[in-house]
Amino acid sequence: MPTREDVLKELAKVKGPDLKGDIVSLGLVSDVFITDGRVIFSITVPAERAEELEPLRQAAEKVVGKLPGVEKVLAALTSERAKGSGPAPAAPVRPAPKPGEAGSVPPPMQGRGPAGGEAKTEKPGVPGVKAIIAVASGKGGVGKSTTTCNLALALQANGLKVGVLDADIYGPSIPRLFRVTGRPEPVSGRILKPLEGYGVKVMSMGFLVEEETPMIWRGPMVISAITQMLREVAWGELDVLVVDMPPGTGDAQLTMAQNVPLAGAVIVSTPQDLALIDARKGLNMFRRVDVPLLGIVENMSYFLCPDCGGRHDIFGHGGARIEAEKLGVPFLGEVPLDMAIRENSDAGTPVTVTDPDGAHATIYKDIAAKVWAEVERHRETGERAAPKIVIES
Ligand code: ADP
Repeated sequence: MPTREDVLKELAKVKGPDLKGDIVSLGLVSDVFITDGRVIFSITVPAERAEELEPLRQAAEKVVGKLPGVEKVLAALTSERAKGSGPAPAAPVRPAPKPGEAGSVPPPMQGRGPAGGEAKTEKPGVPGVKAIIAVASGKGGVGKSTTTCNLALALQANGLKVGVLDADIYGPSIPRLFRVTGRPEPVSGRILKPLEGYGVKVMSMGFLVEEETPMIWRGPMVISAITQMLREVAWGELDVLVVDMPPGTGDAQLTMAQNVPLAGAVIVSTPQDLALIDARKGLNMFRRVDVPLLGIVENMSYFLCPDCGGRHDIFGHGGARIEAEKLGVPFLGEVPLDMAIRENSDAGTPVTVTDPDGAHATIYKDIAAKVWAEVERHRETGERAAPKIVIES
């Protein structure tokens, strides 16, 4: 596989938009993601020239495609940004579902702050939204979205006004979990009205992009799409907006953690060691960008046997609690592995709604209360995350 440097070396052969200089030295190439034989990057061009500069995009794909080990190259054109400010807002790299309609990805915003990189990031809040919290995991499949959904509903059950932003744009599952479909309608200009599920305002890339849109194209669009879903949505008055982060701790996640004005982050982990190593990476990611850690949730913590009613610690339950203690991060609670949680999540009837006084809902409400107490504690004391300890694992 080529390295980032190899890719940039090839891209330096591509001339800039006006045939002056090359796209690398002009600072037009974004982060380069290299994964499984695929190379993904974006090139910044003025939005109005995106169409005219399509040959430039193709030329960039072609030179990188010649590198040994590269199976596929995905280059996207993105619109203008301040130099050195990280990924840019997305220009329409591919025809959006129905251009100009509510279903399309909104055009880039004007005058937004720097979007990452080394620049000191200014993180303006979202008007009307009192706190934004991220739910993250070191890897996929640990129940991050399920936790986001039930945590949001439990926060609501505890008396708060809640919204959910599905930033897991590679696999948006929030629409299914909340059983909401349809397209957000514009309320004014390009401000969209969020959809609503069980009283919670919901916004997801799943509403904006056709399902068959290749996920890979979404890579370069991550930051801008999330920023737009955050700021170009009529959230109204919310006590808390819960963000379902994309899984993992790569550059996109880090940039996002850096750019969204987060009141704190909740890390979801399964008890297995491996997941805990991943969870540690998640914790460290937020520490690096000074986002308070609200705590760790151990999901699929133990198994409640539907037949005998017994409790089995099949995954070595308790790992997350010990890890949280070691790392000085609050432990928020244990959610059992239970078919009822899976079936209800998958059917869009979350347990917190269908059985609000049941054992599972009680667990989620308890977690929600702890999360909110942590948010308030950080807000009152202005306390930031504990001293930065970066454990690379
Ligand atoms: P992630 O967002 O981390 O990828 P999901 O929330 O989509 O994970 O969960 C992955 C799968 O595991 C889903 O089918 C979900 O219903 C199931 N699941 C999540 N949490 C639990 C749980 N506590 N008990 C049983 N199944 C669960």
